[in-house]
Amino acid sequence: MASADKPQEQFDLVVIGSGPGGYVAAIRAAQLGLKTACVEFEPALGGTCLRIGCIPSKALLEASHLYHKTQHDLGQFGIEVAKVGLNLGGMMKKKDDVVGQLTGGVAFLFNKNKVTRVNGKGKIVAPGRVVVDLTAGGTQELTTKNIMIATGSSVARLPGVELDGDRIGTSTEALSYPAVPKHLVVIGAGVIGLELGSVWQRLGAKVTVVEYFDRILPSMDHELAALSKKILEKQGISFKLGARVKSATVKGKGCKVEIEGSDPIECDRVLLAVGRVPYTDGLGLETVGVAKGKRGDVIVDDHFQTNVPGIYAIGDVIRGAMLAHKAEEEGIACAEFIATGYGHVDYDSIPSVVYTHPEIASVGKSEEQLKEAKVEYKKGSFPFSANGRAKAIGSTEGRVKLLSDAKTDRVLGVHIVGAAAGDLIAEAAVAMAFGASAEDIARASHAHPSLAEAVKEAALAAGSGAIHI
Ligand code: FAD
Ligand code: NAD
Repeated sequence: MASADKPQEQFDLVVIGSGPGGYVAAIRAAQLGLKTACVEFEPALGGTCLRIGCIPSKALLEASHLYHKTQHDLGQFGIEVAKVGLNLGGMMKKKDDVVGQLTGGVAFLFNKNKVTRVNGKGKIVAPGRVVVDLTAGGTQELTTKNIMIATGSSVARLPGVELDGDRIGTSTEALSYPAVPKHLVVIGAGVIGLELGSVWQRLGAKVTVVEYFDRILPSMDHELAALSKKILEKQGISFKLGARVKSATVKGKGCKVEIEGSDPIECDRVLLAVGRVPYTDGLGLETVGVAKGKRGDVIVDDHFQTNVPGIYAIGDVIRGAMLAHKAEEEGIACAEFIATGYGHVDYDSIPSVVYTHPEIASVGKSEEQLKEAKVEYKKGSFPFSANGRAKAIGSTEGRVKLLSDAKTDRVLGVHIVGAAAGDLIAEAAVAMAFGASAEDIARASHAHPSLAEAVKEAALAAGSGAIHI
């Protein structure tokens, strides 16, 4: 029996971790009538996403985009701006305010839905028993019918890259640099590299992105990734592709990045962004015998059940894409499965978005995946340069590409580079969730003038032909 300073409490569900997977699951479980607790060791709720991920990065992307646009793009609209200045402290404050509002919002939702919040580090000591090392001191034992592991992920390390939490750091440091770096080297041309690289490039840094593969966003549709690279290069980001980083070390007031087969790069900051890994430190999985995969991920079946009855896992800590909305869907499906015996996630219609400018968004299969699976497909493509709204807002870069089954016309994938691509992709995701054909999208009326008309035109292009090109 673990010693406990506070009396035991009996729950139907204890969720460990309050990221978008865990907090959403806890709220849904409480709504379904389960007595639910959520254990979180950070003082703020919301996990990686709300505290040091999606939300602060999008706040900085928006602010830096506005700064850059005001400096460089307003002339085309006949707007003359005398002097544009950067108040980095003000920008960071806005970001911190947004984070504060949203993490506070989760606390409000917990109260509203009667989810018990437990602040401390949770450890599973046996099926149905979680002992929490309370932040305020002491321990508390929670007994429960079910446990949901939603402990998320942490930054993947690279041997030779000596993180010092300052000059050589991760996305967490890059969300709060005290000054604009002169030269920032980003290791990894994935989502974080492109988003945070864009932020600092817009604010005036020279940005060099070093990537192991010979292309950026290696897991995305190749054609749209190549188009995005061209656009980002035009904005001023340099890419060094097919390059393996050997080491990154602090040298005096700067850093040195050594790359196999080429000259080292001297810079003043390094951002390591080569992926994330499941986080289960101190959770007690070995003690209770919960099986993990090679990546350290908690192994689950289709209902998010681990090999130990009554212990479930969802979100970044299990297999699949590390995305907030994927974690949310899994949290809801798992809570529903526990409460009702049924819960389902449609993995084929989960979109992914890179919030650069223009945005890069994708749902379903890429051309490469369809070719590999030997699926015959039709392709419809439409450029934003032929879209009236895109012209009016002065954002004509990019295109929509829609892939549909050659025989049935069912939509198999949609890939968009363009302004508001992250919002436009929602139509494609809903269409795919309903098993729509390209013709279904093409025949649906889209408001004029809207960027969404480019999606309709791409659907037309996959069939009888686009109108406006
Ligand atoms: P997490 O959000 O990681 O939450 C896990 C929580 O568990 C943490 O709060 C942690 O403190 C807590 N915890 C861990 N162990 C314990 C324990 N033993 N006891 C108590 N608490 C514990 N995704 C998107 O979809 N869109 C984006 O725009 C986006 N931007 C991102 C930007 C950055 C810079 C980063 C780093 C990530 C971004 N992501 C984005 C990814 C997204 O943040 C994750 O996919 C998402 O947060 C995963 O949710 P989760 O609930 O599984 O885990
Ligand atoms: P990522 O997997 O998107 O990209 C990592 C990149 O690093 C890849 O291109 C990879 O080839 C490269 N790489 C790996 N080893 C390397 C090496 N030794 N040298 C050079 N390059 C190397 O990972 P990330 O950008 O760190 O993001 C982590 C996770 O967070 C991702 O799973 C992502 O989905 C999520 N995220 C999502 C969003 C979003 O949805 N907008 C934003 C940020 C982060």
